[in-house]
Amino acid sequence: MNKNNYAEDLTHPIFEIITGAATEIGNPAYVIGGFVRDLIMQRPCTDIDIVTIGNEIELAQKVAKKIGPGVKVTVFRNFKTAMLQYQQYNIEFVGARKESYKFTSRKPDVEPGTLQDDQNRRDFTINALALSLQTDDYGNLIDPFSGIDDIENKTLRTPLNPDTTFSDDPLRMLRGIRFATQLDFEIEQNTWTSIIKNRNRIEIVSGERVTEELNKIILAKTPSKGFKLLESSGLLELILPQLLALKGAEFMEGIGHKDNFYHTLQVLDNLAKKSDNLWLRWAALLHDIGKPATKRFTHENGWTFHGHDYVGSKMIPGIFKKLRLPLNEKMKYVQKMVLMHLRPIALTEEQVTDSAVRRLLFEAGDDIDDLMLLSEADITSKNPNKVRRFLNNFALVRQKLKSVEEADKIRNWQPPISGEIIMDTFGLPPCREIGIIKTAIREAILDGVICNNFEEAFEMMIKEGEKLGFKPIK
Ligand code: ATP
Ligand code: MG
Repeated sequence: MNKNNYAEDLTHPIFEIITGAATEIGNPAYVIGGFVRDLIMQRPCTDIDIVTIGNEIELAQKVAKKIGPGVKVTVFRNFKTAMLQYQQYNIEFVGARKESYKFTSRKPDVEPGTLQDDQNRRDFTINALALSLQTDDYGNLIDPFSGIDDIENKTLRTPLNPDTTFSDDPLRMLRGIRFATQLDFEIEQNTWTSIIKNRNRIEIVSGERVTEELNKIILAKTPSKGFKLLESSGLLELILPQLLALKGAEFMEGIGHKDNFYHTLQVLDNLAKKSDNLWLRWAALLHDIGKPATKRFTHENGWTFHGHDYVGSKMIPGIFKKLRLPLNEKMKYVQKMVLMHLRPIALTEEQVTDSAVRRLLFEAGDDIDDLMLLSEADITSKNPNKVRRFLNNFALVRQKLKSVEEADKIRNWQPPISGEIIMDTFGLPPCREIGIIKTAIREAILDGVICNNFEEAFEMMIKEGEKLGFKPIK
C-alpha cells in the first residue's frame, strides 16, 4: 500500500486532460481529498476534487474545452469553486487557499495560498492527501501529515492542533465520527479529547449540515458505532437529546427494564443488514422514542411503556423540524412505521387469525414489507431461545400474510363498493350514511364475514341501506 507514486491508478483520460490544461495555463494542479483517500483504500468514488495554484474558473473552462463541446462549467462564486461533469465523474475545481477563522463565525476569511496552506485547512490527515498532476512528477503523493500511515492504521487525526481544526469548523467533529463509522476507523486520543472539549461548538452549525452527517452515519454498514461515539462524546445530547433519553435501565423492586438506547442501536444494526432505505433506518432509530414519556412501574405489571408507539409517532415532526429533515411524505412514512412497529410482533403473540392479518395488510398497504423488516429487526433479547421462538413465529406471520394476500388482494385494496354506487343505488345525495355503509362493508370484508368481491359486497350494501331506511330506486 505504501507507495509514493500513484500514476498507474490515475489512468482515466480526465487526469491527462487536466494535466494538459494546467500545463497550458502554467499553474500546477493536484487531485486532493476524498478521491485520493478512496483511491488508496480502493473504495469507489465519483467525486473528484482538483486544487490548482491559480484560478479555478480558468482551469475548469480550459478542461471543459478540451473535453469537447457541450460540457458546461458551473461556477459557484460564493464558494470560489467551479464544477463540471464528465462521464460518471463530478469534478470540482478550487484554487488553493488559506483560511482563517474568527471564533464567532463559521465563515472563514479566505485568501489564495499554497498547496500546503490548502492541506492545512483539511479536516483529517487521511483527507489531506494530494497527487500531483504535473508531467514531471505525475502521480506523486504529497502527504505532509503522514495520512497514508493513518489509513494503514485506521486512524482519524486532524492535520493541525485538533482544537483549532474543530473550533474553526465544528462540523468536523461530526465528520470525524461519520468517517469512523463509514470506514471503521478509530479516532486518535488527542483528536477524541478535543471533540469532547469542543462539543458545544456544534451549536453554530446549521441543522442541514448536521443532518447530512447523521444520514451518512445511519446509512453505514454498522450505524451503532457512530451513535455510540456521538453519545460518549456528548454530541448526542446536543443534536438528538430524545435518543439519549432512552439510555439507562431503572430498577424497581429488583426488576429492571432493558436499556432502550442500546436496544435501539441493535435494532438499527439488524435492520441495516436487511435494508438500505434511509427512512426505514430513521424509523428504526426512532421506533422507541416514545418510551421515556410512557414508562410506568406497577407492582402487578412491572415496567410498561403503553402507548409508546403512538406517543413516539407524535414526536417525529418536532424532531424532523429541528433536524431540518423533510416534513413531507417521508416524515409521514417514518411516523407510520413508528406507530405500527408493534403490530406484526403483536400478531405472533396470539392466534394468527386471517382477519387480524387482513387488517394489518389493509392498514400497512404498500409499506407492509418495510414494516415486517422493522418489526423483525426489533426482536432483540439476551436470551437466544426467546429470539428463536419469536423469529419462528414471525416466519409464520409472513406465510400467513402471503396466503391472505394471494387470496384476498388486500394490499392495494379499494373496497368493491364506492360511494357513487351507493348514491346511485339508493338515489341519495352525498351524506353521512354513505360513509356508514362503506365502513360496514369494509369491516365485514376485513373480518372475513363476507368475501372480497362485488356480489357479496353489493348484497351487503342493500341490507345495510335498508337498515338505515333506504330503498333501491331501480
Ligand atoms: P464523502 O464524499 O464521502 O462525504 P469526502 O472526504 O470526499 O467524503 P467531501 O465533503 O466530499 O468529503 O469533501 C472533499 C474534501 O474536502 C475532504 O476530503 C476534505 O479534504 C475537504 N473537506 C470537506 N469538508 C471539510 C470541512 N468541513 N473541513 C475541512 N475539510 C473539509
Ligand atoms: Mg467527496
